Amino acid sequence: MARKQVSEAEWETFLGVADRLEIPVRELLAGQPNFTQMESAGHRLGQAVAQVATERMSLARAGQMTQPQPCPTCGQVCALKQQDRELTTIDGPLALCEPVAHCPACRRDFFPSASRTRAVSKNLQSRGD
Ligand SMILES: [Zn+2]
Repeated sequence: MARKQVSEAEWETFLGVADRLEIPVRELLAGQPNFTQMESAGHRLGQAVAQVATERMSLARAGQMTQPQPCPTCGQVCALKQQDRELTTIDGPLALCEPVAHCPACRRDFFPSASRTRAVSKNLQSRGD
């Protein structure tokens, strides 16, 4: 993977995020840290950014899906509601918001975003992304 470049303005944004999250990046910049301390702080900042980015994308996806959806088992169109769910990822815990529907005929809940995610993944794979 090619090394990513950030502008000075973007770096200042990162520092502001680190300050707010109490990750001591500024202290390490001014001190004499060893490599493990620098790597650990950088990793914590990266995980925090990844968590927020994933939560925001999940929230956006949930907001896009508001119409009733067909049950994958019987096809009955069922109303959606938004449900918060905790999820543990490689970057730590996330609070996801996702649409869920209940099919009264099948007496089960289903998650339309899950089947949609698989469809998007298949499309990306077929395009070679
Ligand atoms: Zn059903």
